[in-house]
Amino acid sequence: MSGNESRLQAIYQITNRKATSVAQPEPLSKIWASDVFNLATMEQCLSKSAFKAIKKTVQTGAPLDAATAEVVAVAMKEWAMGKGAKFFSHIFYPMTNVSAEKHDAFIVTNSDGNAITEFSGSLLIKGEPDGSSFPNGSIRMTNAARGYTAWDPTSPAYIMQTENGATLTIPSVFMSWTGEALDKKIPLLRSNAAMNKAAQKVLSLMGETDIAPLNSSCGAEQEYFLVDANFAAARPDLLLAGRTLFGAPSAKGQQFDDHYFGAIPQRVQVFMQDFEEQLYRLGIPAKTHHNEVAPGQFEIAPYFEAANVAADHQQLLMTVLKNSAKKHGFLCLLHEKPFAGINGSGKHVNWSVGNATQGNLLDPGDTPHDNLNFLLFCGAVIRGVHLFGPLLRAAIATASNDHRLGANEAPPAIMSVYLGDQLEKLYKDIKEGKLTVTQTGGEMDLGLSQILNFKRDPGDRNRTSPFAFTGNRFEFRAVGSGQSVSGPLVVMNTMLADSLAWIAEKLEAELATASCKADAVIAVLKELITEHGNAVFGGDGYSTDWHTMAVEERGLKNLPTTADALPSLREESVKKLFSTTGVLSPVELESRFEVYSEQYILAIELEAKLVVEMAKSIIYPAAITYLSELAAAGGSMAELNIELDNSVAATVAAETNAMMAAVSKLSAAMKQHDFASTEEHMQFLAKDIRGLMDEVRLHADALECEVADELWPLPKYREMLFIK
Ligand code: ADP
Ligand code: MG
Repeated sequence: MSGNESRLQAIYQITNRKATSVAQPEPLSKIWASDVFNLATMEQCLSKSAFKAIKKTVQTGAPLDAATAEVVAVAMKEWAMGKGAKFFSHIFYPMTNVSAEKHDAFIVTNSDGNAITEFSGSLLIKGEPDGSSFPNGSIRMTNAARGYTAWDPTSPAYIMQTENGATLTIPSVFMSWTGEALDKKIPLLRSNAAMNKAAQKVLSLMGETDIAPLNSSCGAEQEYFLVDANFAAARPDLLLAGRTLFGAPSAKGQQFDDHYFGAIPQRVQVFMQDFEEQLYRLGIPAKTHHNEVAPGQFEIAPYFEAANVAADHQQLLMTVLKNSAKKHGFLCLLHEKPFAGINGSGKHVNWSVGNATQGNLLDPGDTPHDNLNFLLFCGAVIRGVHLFGPLLRAAIATASNDHRLGANEAPPAIMSVYLGDQLEKLYKDIKEGKLTVTQTGGEMDLGLSQILNFKRDPGDRNRTSPFAFTGNRFEFRAVGSGQSVSGPLVVMNTMLADSLAWIAEKLEAELATASCKADAVIAVLKELITEHGNAVFGGDGYSTDWHTMAVEERGLKNLPTTADALPSLREESVKKLFSTTGVLSPVELESRFEVYSEQYILAIELEAKLVVEMAKSIIYPAAITYLSELAAAGGSMAELNIELDNSVAATVAAETNAMMAAVSKLSAAMKQHDFASTEEHMQFLAKDIRGLMDEVRLHADALECEVADELWPLPKYREMLFIK
């Protein structure tokens, strides 16, 4: 089949497709978490004492003794085998954004040739995948490639079902044999611990006596695109790079605003329901789904959970999302910008911190006493964003997310905080000394009545802010669609830990002399907001005024590309942040710089190769075929003494030549391998290579608008976006 035929075939296949058959839906009570080895399941199959021990570990992170691990392992195996599992797997989260797993069977044969099954506490606790093939920066020499996975009992094990089998899947951490974190889970757990420690100190200074362990929470809104698999199969760029490297705009795009929250196409609705049934079985609380802004774009948002579990669930959700889409004949794109000219996909990470005794510390609450804690925690976040904005930017830096940030559809690459009018004014009053504390009749009047009735309904959203307060949490809106949420969560927790430690120190000093607690709090907040208030911005983040003001007047950094952002990981202040909080050692941090840089370099190199290959082997032949058809037609007409308009032929010839000239320049540039540093290499790709790729595309897209439709080999934007 020639290229153009495969495009037309795809349209035929899609318009004649039969609906995927799906099982009848079951009641929620029957399927909810039915494939999860959670506390409820454990209570049923463990002794009272073993259950008490594991519950304590799950709820407080307390260490688990070997004897209990043994008992849990046996119960877990029995439960999993009862559900048809023959294999188990430690799932872990390497520094790439994917999930990794190695599967082992429960089976062991004995000397009679009979099969028995075995799964001990030590097998549950520790796995040993060959770690050398996972990126590790320069932490491990290849001759010391051993990597360990270790069970994380705080995230429940589950059964991964496929058509004809089931695998017990055990969430795990992944480390080198020298104990360095090679994954995204260890830093997340450590960042929670660091945040807890600093928060405990602040809360006890605030006079709280009963303080349960603090944890961070995360609710992630996931955007994605669905493209029919038949189209995807005819687009090497979608298959290999996850985005279109070529494609002229469709006459109809998103300009009519008719997709956002519109009726969900039926085929997609069927897919969503099927997908969500699986999520429910896995204990993932899918809560909302709807169409997004761009045609073919959708969103799913589960209800928020403890950050560590939410991060594991996010990874699982992405896996199930892609697999279910495939079953329904779609390719699910988690790329941040699959189609030029229309909105890309992000992942909004909603984040808060709290515990069982004080509740959500980012909720202003109903009493002045809650308000003070809230103002301190919220202030701590502001300080964090101000000091570590570039680090936050680095935490969302990928080759694909660069297409989105700052493209006037997603937040800018400048990190600032949106608080809403009410709260912004309150901190301003504190800064200007307008907020005073009075003491009347033994009752404290904090003068904070303005936030007692704090508007919780986040009606006045600011969609142009990368980091927005939304009533009882912050929403980090700039995270990429395909990214793990762990990196951003680690940065948020760690910067909060650092700011809370700073607050504790100041507060302790103020409390020694202040006449009342509220006075001390206001004094600390005054200093904080005077030094760090520059990060607060409530205006239009897309405007050019803001870009100028942020950088020139406020000293914030604008880091448009990953090449600009990743070097932040090497800054002294960042090294100090991670080492004093115990979240990442300098070696672990450096390895992250190396791995993320490498990922960036590989991603752009792959795309550049594809651009050259597709331009030469797919687009050029189509243009030439058309030119020869035009020439033949011109010849035949000449014999009849009819003169044909040859402007199309002239344009096609000119664009073809211009495209091939750009291809030559790009190919030559790709031969450059001599760079003084990783930073220089990344800048070369960000500027030169990406610029040349755009140049090739410009001419190729012009050709798409000239060449006869029936000869065009690649499925077009209008087809991929609108035919379902
Ligand atoms: P919107 O689209 O209006 O931003 P959604 O309801 O789609 O809101 O998503 C909001 C996300 O924030 C959900 O995942 C929700 O569970 C989560 N969320 C709500 N409260 C908190 C909280 N206190 N901490 C963290 N996440 C939260
Ligand atoms: Mg949202």
